[in-house]
Amino acid sequence: MKCSCVHLPCGFLLFLQPRNFSGQISVEILRNPCTFALVKFTPAKPSLFGETLESLKVSVEAAGFPGFRAKQVMEWLYKKRVDQWDAMSNLPKAFRAWLDTHYILYPTSSLIDKRSDDVTQKLLLELEDKSLIETVLIRAPQTGVGQESSRKTVCVSIQVGCAYGCKFCASGLAGFRRNLMAAEVVSQLMHICRREDAHTTRAKKEIASFDNIVFMGMGEPLANYDTLIQTIKILNADWGLNFGARRITVSTSGLAPQILKLANESVPVRLAISLHGATNEVRDQIMPINKKYPLEELLPAVKAFQEKHGRMLTLEFIMIKDVNDSLDQAKALTKIARDLHAHVNCIPYNKVEGLEWQRPSVRRQDAFVDVLRKGGVSVTIRREKGHDINAACGQLRLKTEQKMAEDESKPSSPFINPRV
Ligand code: SF4
Repeated sequence: MKCSCVHLPCGFLLFLQPRNFSGQISVEILRNPCTFALVKFTPAKPSLFGETLESLKVSVEAAGFPGFRAKQVMEWLYKKRVDQWDAMSNLPKAFRAWLDTHYILYPTSSLIDKRSDDVTQKLLLELEDKSLIETVLIRAPQTGVGQESSRKTVCVSIQVGCAYGCKFCASGLAGFRRNLMAAEVVSQLMHICRREDAHTTRAKKEIASFDNIVFMGMGEPLANYDTLIQTIKILNADWGLNFGARRITVSTSGLAPQILKLANESVPVRLAISLHGATNEVRDQIMPINKKYPLEELLPAVKAFQEKHGRMLTLEFIMIKDVNDSLDQAKALTKIARDLHAHVNCIPYNKVEGLEWQRPSVRRQDAFVDVLRKGGVSVTIRREKGHDINAACGQLRLKTEQKMAEDESKPSSPFINPRV
């Protein structure tokens, strides 16, 4: 049967490999935002990183412990960043035993920790069902690529793989497996916090050890909407990471109805649109979602978001040789950016194994950007970052899964590093 739904990843169930884990996997048919089969993982025990102070307090009191213990637990998680029950030294033993019976701490463990020459660091994390996800820490250079700086951005994943199939993206290549739960997203940031705490010059651990969070890793954030909102609320809460929503950017491939929904949330996040084509004809070649929500539907939704929040948004534009790098595209992009009062972030295409596109020459990139600048558009061009550690979305996970599949027939795998 031919399906016109852009979210449907043909053959995605092939990615469910039988491995040992605790918890349950089920397949549900959902109808939001459109019909597709969704693999749902239910862990044997929930992680504390998915709880709010209120929800934990209810459980704690129902178990006969005083409600203030919930606040103490949150302090151990988010301010002191411990990863063992025994480290929660001001909690009575009986309460720690109750926590251990009903919850786990981290639902993710770090398999590979790679740092590139240009100060990008990538974590490959394993989930309880043995799925793999990626989290990237990017240190923004002060005066040029390759220099250390105090501005750190964490790029998190929100799904295992992705169903949207953007043609430049390694996550789309591997198909979609399942949505992440809020605890699995929050714990990505806590892994980064703990790593950075170890060599931070900041006086106290109590604040987040990075400056910005971007939902630009694996997955479409607006297709895992409830997790997105729950995660932002936990990050934003004073009992949580106390991280300002205005330092959080949600990047979407262009789900127009969900953009409108996000505009009405109480969390004032920043919005970035993966545009990559300034006309439907070109965008259709790169972003399958454009067939469902073409520019005439997407751009008014983005404008509504912008008007509601009154803040400059970002248009992401990956420059691909002979696909979207013409001066006509630059002119059309200029018009869109001016209408939306948007900043444009141009990113020369990062080669992904298995995809045949090329990046344009530097001269052509400069000519494209010149058109935007002369048209009065605020624009940056983000040249290489993390190329040597497979920093393009989903590349490290894809390569690791391929390698693991190759190694499965061998007596032992030398590939996976000891956990850190
Ligand atoms: S760019 Fe984002 S939405 Fe598109 S396939 Fe990759 S992860 Fe999915």
